[in-house]
Amino acid sequence: MSKKEIPYKIYLEEKEMPTQWYNVRADMKTKPAPLLNPGTLQPMTAQELGAVFCDELVRQELDDCTPYIDIPQEILDFYKMYRPSPLVRAYCLEKKLQTPAKIYYKFEGNNTSGSHKLNSAIAQAYYAKKQGLKGVTTETGAGQWGTALSMACSYFDLDCKVFMVKVSYEQKPFRREVMRTYGASVTPSPSETTQVGRKILAEHPGTTGSLGCAISEAVEAATSAEGYRYVLGSVLNQVLLHQSVIGLETKAALDKYEIVPDMIIGCAGGGSNLGGLISPFMGEKLRGERDYKFIAVEPASCPSFTRGRFAYDFCDTGKVCPLAKMYTLGSGFIPSANHAGGLRYHGMSSTLSQLYDDGLMEARSLEQTAVFEAAEQFARVEGILPAPESSHAIRVAIDEALKCKETGEEKTIVFGLTGTGYFDMVAYEKYNNGEMTDYIPTDADLEKGFAGLPKVEG
Ligand SMILES: *Cc1c(COP(=O)(O)O)cnc(C)c1O
Repeated sequence: MSKKEIPYKIYLEEKEMPTQWYNVRADMKTKPAPLLNPGTLQPMTAQELGAVFCDELVRQELDDCTPYIDIPQEILDFYKMYRPSPLVRAYCLEKKLQTPAKIYYKFEGNNTSGSHKLNSAIAQAYYAKKQGLKGVTTETGAGQWGTALSMACSYFDLDCKVFMVKVSYEQKPFRREVMRTYGASVTPSPSETTQVGRKILAEHPGTTGSLGCAISEAVEAATSAEGYRYVLGSVLNQVLLHQSVIGLETKAALDKYEIVPDMIIGCAGGGSNLGGLISPFMGEKLRGERDYKFIAVEPASCPSFTRGRFAYDFCDTGKVCPLAKMYTLGSGFIPSANHAGGLRYHGMSSTLSQLYDDGLMEARSLEQTAVFEAAEQFARVEGILPAPESSHAIRVAIDEALKCKETGEEKTIVFGLTGTGYFDMVAYEKYNNGEMTDYIPTDADLEKGFAGLPKVEG
C-alpha cells in the first residue's frame, strides 16, 4: 500500500497525459473476426470500407497489430479543454455502504455532450476534415452520440447530418436542440429522405424506429452524397481505440498512487466505453503481467453478452452494413423501451465479444429498477446525477462493495461513470413515481431475433 494520501479526485498533470491511444487488438492472441462483405462474405477490403468510412479510420479499423497510435496534436488540443477527466475516490459512497472496499470512478460526464462519446467524435471529425470531406452522417439513439458529434463537427467546421431514432426525437427534444445549436441537421428515423427509410416505413407503418434502422439511413445518406462519409459512435474497433484514452488516464492516475484495482466495471451498449476503460489493463492481462476481473454490465432487456449468440450478424436493420462477428441478439431484435437508450443495441463490439468468448471478462445483466435504485443512492452521496446507462456500472460496483462488507475484503473497485442523466429526467420521473417496469425477453422472444441471423460459417 502506498503511504501517499489518496485525494478525492486524482487529476493528471499535462505532462502525464496520454499522447497515444492503445490498440488492445495488438496484444490479443485470437484477433477479433474481420468485417465481411454481406454480398461476397469475404473480409471487407480497405477500398470497400473507404466508400463508407474515412480513410484514416479504415486504417485504424483494420490495424490489429500496432499497439500504440499517436494522437494527432489537434485532437490532443481539443482533449485539453475537458480532459483529463477526474478519477474520483468514492469516499462518501464507501462510508454510506460501510464497506471496506475502495471504490473509484472515472467520470466522463464533464463536457457539454455529457458522456465519453466526445473522445471518439472529435477524432472522427478530425480525420474527416483532414481528408477534405464536406461532412459526415450518423445515427443517434438517445442522443448522446449525435450531441458529441455535432460539437466535434462544429469545431472543425464540418457539416453533420444526424438520423435520430424517432421515439427519442420526440421524447428528447432538448438533446435535439443541443445538436441543432451546434449546427447539425437532425432527421427523425425512419424517414422519407432515404430509400431504406421509405422501405422500413412501408413495412412497419407507425414504427418509432431503432438504432439499427437509423444506421441504415445514415449509411445511405453518406454513400449517396458527394464528399460525405458515415461515422459511428460505438461498436467499431476504431471507436474502442479512441476511447482507450479513458483507460490510459485511469491507469496513469492509479499508478501515480500505486493503486492496483482488483476489478474494473463498465456498462456495455456497443462496448466502446468499457473497451476503452479496460484496454490498457486487459493488455497487461493478455501479456501475462497482471490479472484483473473485468465486468460488463448490460440491461436485462437487451442482453447481448449474457443471452446472445456469438455469430456473424448484420450491424443494421436495413442490412446495408458489413457483417460483424459479435455477441448479438439478431439485427431484427427490437428491445423493449428500456430507459438506458445508449444500451439498446442488438450487438456488441467484436473485440469485446472475442475477449468475452475467450473467458477474459465477465458479463452481468440488470433490471432497470435495480439500476435506478443505485443511481438514486449514488446521486445522493456523490453529488453527480448519473446517466441511466452509467448506473448499470454503479449497481454492480455497489453490489461488489457490499460483498466485501460481508467478507471483510478490502478490494479495489474501479468503474466507469460514463455520463450525466440530466436529459433522462422522464426516466427518473417514472422511477420516482413508482411506475418503472422491468421487462425481460423470453427465450421465445430471443429465438425470433436469432432466426434472422445470416448463415455464415465462422
Ligand atoms: C452511449 C453511452 C453508453 C454506451 O455506449 P458504449 O459504446 O457501450 O460505451 C454508456 N453510457 C453513456 C452515458 C452513453 O452515452
